[in-house]
Amino acid sequence: MNLDVFKDEVSKLGIKYTDDMLEKLEKYYELLISYNEKMNLTAITEKEDVYLKHFYDSLTIVKVIDLNSINSVCDIGTGAGFPGIVLKIFFPNIELTLVDALNKRINFLETTVLKLNLTNVTCVHARAEEYALKNREKFDLVTARAVASLPVLLEYCLPLVKVSGYFVAMKGSEDISLAGNALNKLSGEIDINNKFLLPFENSNRTLIRVKKINKTDKKFPRKFSEIKKRPL
Ligand code: SAM
Repeated sequence: MNLDVFKDEVSKLGIKYTDDMLEKLEKYYELLISYNEKMNLTAITEKEDVYLKHFYDSLTIVKVIDLNSINSVCDIGTGAGFPGIVLKIFFPNIELTLVDALNKRINFLETTVLKLNLTNVTCVHARAEEYALKNREKFDLVTARAVASLPVLLEYCLPLVKVSGYFVAMKGSEDISLAGNALNKLSGEIDINNKFLLPFENSNRTLIRVKKINKTDKKFPRKFSEIKKRPL
């Protein structure tokens, strides 16, 4: 996806952008490629692929949530910053927390935040299920792209969401019927399940939006060993 096509597709998503945002995105691409030579951040490195499979793909979340009306966002298992950093560039209004279990990725994100002059971004080196214990019901929106199966993700992410806030899982394809028990136990409800094809390469995408109905029982999230052994 070259820059002109990217701009067209972003407009089709209803996103308004400025030259400054596009410049930040370009700088982010350059940092990603340069750090990727020293550490494993992404297997996708061709510029047109990064613009499609990382940048555009991250922005598709606007199909299910209006980021102009959201304050606090937490991106769990953000890796090299997807979708979190891309969302922050196009929606500078959000207060963003990026969480990942790998410290070298958090170091890359801290550098990126500084070099792109992004404000109100906190980078946290932690496992999601541990971070959630001390940050319950704190965020309007929690996101996770390509991190774990839906029942596991729900246990990591729903405790972090404010009551009446949302968790959005960004997946390839997903069988949501397997998540019924997790949704019940964690007080969430799927209100949108949006399936579409990524333009040009036509791979499956699913955006699962989960509304938090009530406070999550304090016994969740459990320890990782327990989540892994007995997913909800
Ligand atoms: N979200 C990014 C993306 O879409 O490119 C990264 C996806 S990568 C496949 C999964 C990331 O989740 C890795 O960076 C990994 O360290 C992180 N991760 C996996 N389990 C985690 C957990 N329990 N807590 C925090 N981070 C986790």
